[in-house]
Amino acid sequence: CGIMGYIGNREAQPILIDGLRKLEYRGYDSAGIAVNDGTKIAIRKAKGRIDILEGLVQHARLHGSIGIGHTRWATHGRPSDANSHPHTDERGKFAIVHNGIIENEQEIRQELIQEGVTFTSETDTEVIAHLLAKHDQGDLIQTVQQVAARLRGAYALAVMSEGEPDKLIAVRFASPLIIGVGEGEKFIGSDIPAILEHTRDVYVMEDGDLAVLTPDSLELYDLETLQPIEREQVRITWD
Ligand code: GLU
Repeated sequence: CGIMGYIGNREAQPILIDGLRKLEYRGYDSAGIAVNDGTKIAIRKAKGRIDILEGLVQHARLHGSIGIGHTRWATHGRPSDANSHPHTDERGKFAIVHNGIIENEQEIRQELIQEGVTFTSETDTEVIAHLLAKHDQGDLIQTVQQVAARLRGAYALAVMSEGEPDKLIAVRFASPLIIGVGEGEKFIGSDIPAILEHTRDVYVMEDGDLAVLTPDSLELYDLETLQPIEREQVRITWD
């Protein structure tokens, strides 16, 4: 399972798919990507090999220079197109990819169903997408922080919002995630090989870190307090 994210000025789609291929060795049963063209988020996802996803996007390319990608190793819900990531809220405003397990998924799902939310998958991940809509503050950083405070379990997340196409958010809680820093572009990856082709300047996120990526900046915050934090940038010297 793996996560890939891109924000910059190149087309996101080929970078995401290429990154997912580099994460194939981790094992997966489905793959998908979401790209924001500046006004709207579009998603392509499918059960099975990355070749199937690649077939989908060859028929209908996704344009835009901000996006997230995922290879899934199912824990909640069988491998299927619907259970593949990215997941969204009912309006399709937020798109997320998730590695890990949300332990209090049942409780949150019941709460949301009672509030009238319609679920489209069997995954634990989907509750996060609907929680983002429920706790929407109009500010993605604060919204993600509020939602994370409700989650128990292990998660690495990449999040984007249709209304804020200038930023990508990554959260790490007991599931690995790294950030790559390029010239006018930033990357999220489950591990270093996924992004090594693009940059050797990397931040290794720690548990409880929230990262905000724009093409030209990277800010790191404590997930609980939203206080800015410092992490050492490392230069990768191996191939
Ligand atoms: N628990 C999530 C799911 O079953 C994520 C699995 C993963 O880490 O790929 O969809």
